[in-house]
Amino acid sequence: MTLKLETDPRRVPLFEERTSPDIAAAVAANAPVIVPLGATEQHGAHLPLGTDTYQGLDMSRRAAALLAKEGIPLVVGPAIPFGPPPFLSESPRAMAGTINVSNDTLRALLHDVCESLVVHGFRRIYLLLANVESEYAMHIVAKELTEKTKANIVTLNWLVGARPGYKALLKSDKPQGHGGEGETARMLATAPHLVRMEEARPYHPKLPVDPPVHGDALPYLGGAIGRYRYDRDEFDGMVDGITGDPQLATAETGEKSYGLIATWIASVIRYDLRP
Ligand SMILES: [Zn+2]
Repeated sequence: MTLKLETDPRRVPLFEERTSPDIAAAVAANAPVIVPLGATEQHGAHLPLGTDTYQGLDMSRRAAALLAKEGIPLVVGPAIPFGPPPFLSESPRAMAGTINVSNDTLRALLHDVCESLVVHGFRRIYLLLANVESEYAMHIVAKELTEKTKANIVTLNWLVGARPGYKALLKSDKPQGHGGEGETARMLATAPHLVRMEEARPYHPKLPVDPPVHGDALPYLGGAIGRYRYDRDEFDGMVDGITGDPQLATAETGEKSYGLIATWIASVIRYDLRP
């Protein structure tokens, strides 16, 4: 059984679409595996609850397709479909459909998923942050399992890694957060039938665009300050739980954005696997 490399991202199989011999062949070929950390969470009235998971899987498939062209195998692993509660006020948790797990539950789940992959022989696992609140559990699991097992677990935060060039892709010049132009554009590229553009409306929190204090950005954006409570009026007027300009999104922007992100992911893996 040899591993078949797919260069068309739409044909790169999901983990659950593969057979057991496929996985054995991937391990025998020393393939790394990438596990996207998604969420089941409200994304406004215009995007589906699984938006983060869909994007994480699509980023992973596109990276796998890019690497396949160079003969480098990458298995798209099982996605984690749940994350911890959103940061206070940024994305209201009271909105219908959001399903959260605690940081401890996510850590335990991710640990056990990764441990199974290690038991089956994978020696390199990439954890792809596709839901920002999953960052803390992700780092703990990567560090602990790398220390405890023969595997090398590497975390990927494309929000920082793909930043050069990312802003220039977007039509809006304002910050785009949860459910904003970037996410909406990628969902238009991934699953246009699930996007309700007629429901998309803009919202911008009252946060300073150019922070007066150096380093004042959240850690998942490469910043130096962790803020977990907004108790002034930063998010007044938020109606449907999103931030940004989703109505400016196009599938074309989504394709370009995926291209940038997948190229970054592939460049990390190519570098790590260099002879
Ligand atoms: Zn999202």
